[in-house]
Amino acid sequence: MDIILFGPPGAGKGTQAQKLSQKYRIPQISTGDILRANVKEGTALGLEAKKYMDAGELVPDAVLIGIIKNRLLEADCANGFLLDGYPRTIPQADALTVILDEIKKPIDAVINIIVPTDILIERLSGRWMCSCGASHHIVFNPPKSEGICDTCGGTLFQRPDDTSDAVSNRLDVYQKQTAPLVDYYKKKNLLKDVDGTKDIDAVFANIDTLVAPFK
Ligand code: ADP
Ligand code: ADP
Ligand code: ZN
Repeated sequence: MDIILFGPPGAGKGTQAQKLSQKYRIPQISTGDILRANVKEGTALGLEAKKYMDAGELVPDAVLIGIIKNRLLEADCANGFLLDGYPRTIPQADALTVILDEIKKPIDAVINIIVPTDILIERLSGRWMCSCGASHHIVFNPPKSEGICDTCGGTLFQRPDDTSDAVSNRLDVYQKQTAPLVDYYKKKNLLKDVDGTKDIDAVFANIDTLVAPFK
């Protein structure tokens, strides 16, 4: 099962990717998590990426294409993968097609999670993340014990780009640079729309029905 979770910031890509990853035992590949880990470790990549992330801009395509190529060639992707936050531009999508053609693992479906902007802002402002890829929300998905990740017991943190001017810029950047991928994947007959405004379990049930045939 080779799946792309697609949608604007706050749509629920990470939340749903983690649930699918647990059910189907395939990795969640979040480019945002990979970049944040690099920022935290202070790698050259992290130093380069940080200025874009803080401003809510996209990190350059060449950087992302390098990251995703290396990650998809790792052994745990052999039985499938869930892409969360990649691709975000047409050149990234074109590069992905080339990489997957080479390893003969085409994308099965692109799950387009649709949520209106006012709800996205509400979700981002209350999001508490974990480095394991889990997302909590102070109102919509509170952790069982405050500040602690339900999935791994890690310490939750608020992202600086979720609570600053970067939010509105990220939503603009999505419209300008990422939304064109909707038509791109529609033309390839891969796009499956999902109503992302329902509760987490209802959205999951809907996505699960769409991806189950690719198991
Ligand atoms: P994305 O990865 O698309 O940016 P997340 O999965 O991190 O989005 O979700 C954004 C925020 O919204 C998180 O705080 C998460 O707990 C919350 N959330 C996710 N899905 C839902 C949902 N269906 N209903 C309400 N809140 C949700
Ligand atoms: P969200 O969950 O809100 O959609 P992510 O965690 O996926 O956000 O991404 C956080 C930031 O990391 C983005 O604003 C961007 O700066 C950078 N980033 C992540 N994935 C990509 C990508 N595929 N292309 C370019 N930049 C990316
Ligand atoms: Zn965790």
